[in-house]
Amino acid sequence: MFKSLRLRMILIILSGTILSILLVSIITNVTLFNKFDKYMADEQENKIQQVVELLTNSYLIENQWNERVLDNIRTSPITRGFNIVLEDDKQNIVFEYYVDNSMIHHHSEMMRRMGHGMMGSNMMDDMTLTWKQREILIDGKKVGVVNVGYTGPFMISEREIEFTRGINSSIFYSAIISILVSVFLGIYSSKIVSNPVLRITKAANDIRRGNLDVKISTQHNIKEINELSESINHLAESLNEQEQLRKRLTSDISHELRTPLTILQSHIEAIIDGVWQPTKDKMKICKNEVDRLIKLVEELKKLTDIENNNIELHISKFNISILINEIITSFRIEFDRKGVELKSDIQENIIINGDKDKIAQILINLLSNGLKFTNSGDKVTVSVKEANNNVKIEVSDTGIGISKENLPYIFERFYRSDKSRNRKTGGAGIGLTIVNALVESHNGTITVDSIEGKGTKFTITLSK
Ligand code: ADP
Repeated sequence: MFKSLRLRMILIILSGTILSILLVSIITNVTLFNKFDKYMADEQENKIQQVVELLTNSYLIENQWNERVLDNIRTSPITRGFNIVLEDDKQNIVFEYYVDNSMIHHHSEMMRRMGHGMMGSNMMDDMTLTWKQREILIDGKKVGVVNVGYTGPFMISEREIEFTRGINSSIFYSAIISILVSVFLGIYSSKIVSNPVLRITKAANDIRRGNLDVKISTQHNIKEINELSESINHLAESLNEQEQLRKRLTSDISHELRTPLTILQSHIEAIIDGVWQPTKDKMKICKNEVDRLIKLVEELKKLTDIENNNIELHISKFNISILINEIITSFRIEFDRKGVELKSDIQENIIINGDKDKIAQILINLLSNGLKFTNSGDKVTVSVKEANNNVKIEVSDTGIGISKENLPYIFERFYRSDKSRNRKTGGAGIGLTIVNALVESHNGTITVDSIEGKGTKFTITLSK
């Protein structure tokens, strides 16, 4: 129930509003009506006091109680709504005035209509006659006692009723307006949040269905929504890249496998058919193709190990200067054969803590690339230096370079720039992926700088 974000937000805002309205009503009732009760009690006392004054003045006319004078006070507005019983100093009743029953009924009705506060009041149950007794004093001498009676706790006038009713109805109308406003605000704010969430959900569902070209706008004015949209866009982009790489891989691998297999097939068929004699040269060609296949399978195996985080390091202290010199020596013949100069600038006797074979593999891959992506007359330079407890290895060449578009992807598995694709010497695009993983496994860093047509420089930093 209430699973939708929009409905939930509306309900939360609405319940918040209703709760605040309730609290405001309770507080208003408790404070305001307490004050109002006190005001009413004071007013009541004032009115009784006025009755006492009226009676005192009536006495003063003849310095005694006079029935005719007293009769006049029946019509005075001061006595309106009061029952009055006046006794002289000898406790004889000298004047009686009763509000008729219909008047009492009218008053109770007024009290009922007034409701006395939104929360109701126990005064409502108290509609009996209240009597107050006051002495009539002239120069400190008691000349009589008056009993003033009225219905309920107070004598209420129409204006007072209007006042209380006004407060109650303003609380009521503000409550209605607040609820309407909060529903509107709930709908509006939930739209602000839920619309982009719905858009993001739709985009995520599109991605799930394989549409990786989705792009969500990041121009929203809520920061978190923008961040989420950016993440989803990034996710779609990298999934797209991975998908492109996967497709490329399938075609690359099938291409890599097909070429040697077709050569093998045609050679073997020609030998079987007697077109060719199984000479040493022909068999050598077949063996080369078998070697290529084996190399490809080995590289795939290495890649699988890397992807499964299966790099097992055999760390030992060794002289990296000697190791790199040996590797350079082993490459020299091939470089000479191609007419590429292989230069070295290696600081002597640098000792490093690492896996000798893996570091050798890094250098072999970089030098193979240096050989692959240079032409006759180019130059490849290897330099090794020690700096701040680090070893910095640079392999630079003056070869074909890498375009800006290709540069970010060269460490991706099976990535090969188009230029290298058709080269006979082109590998499977795994070499740099392996280099990157091996450097990372040594907690080192690798960076590449390249200008298309000018050359490439790889810089590796390994801690000693
Ligand atoms: P492979 O060499 O098997 O193609 P790598 O992972 O070693 O795969 O290299 C990936 C791609 O990076 C290469 O196909 C090539 O386009 C580019 N590359 C790597 N090294 C160099 C270099 N020294 N000069 C120019 N391009 C290079």
